Amino acid sequence: MLLFLILLAVVILYKFLCSRKKAKLTPYMLEYFLKITDPVPLCGKPDVVWMNRKGILIVGDYKSRCHNKVYDSDVIQLSVYRLLVEKTQQKPVASFGYIHFKGASRKVKLLSEREIIDLYHRYWKIIEGQVKPNQAGNNSYCQNCSHQSICSSW
Ligand code: SF4
Repeated sequence: MLLFLILLAVVILYKFLCSRKKAKLTPYMLEYFLKITDPVPLCGKPDVVWMNRKGILIVGDYKSRCHNKVYDSDVIQLSVYRLLVEKTQQKPVASFGYIHFKGASRKVKLLSEREIIDLYHRYWKIIEGQVKPNQAGNNSYCQNCSHQSICSSW
């Protein structure tokens, strides 16, 4: 019986040490410039890409603002980073990412490749005047928008 208890204690200790040895997430890439031309031309520099214990990459972005609100633009930015990582690293990439604020982190579901492609084409159609942009839900967005001169909603 004593031998069994000692053996059990050794197994528990071994599992505990193994679980401590490997962190849940390890940094895979930091502020590395990535560029793709297919399926659409995109480039960017993800703040951080983590790798989990299963070898899956997870994109992350750091925000310095003092509140923890996640905007649509944050999700689009992180989704573009996800697509850049997926197309350049030949490794599985999670369909979610993390936005890190000063005192907290938020897990966000990212847009699919199809949604990013659609947004890309919509963006250029708006720039070329073929499509009218939707009126921004909040007028304060328009105050600093660089597309005011071509926007008929402004
Ligand atoms: S100015 Fe036009 S394009 Fe810019 S945010 Fe406002 S509605 Fe959108």
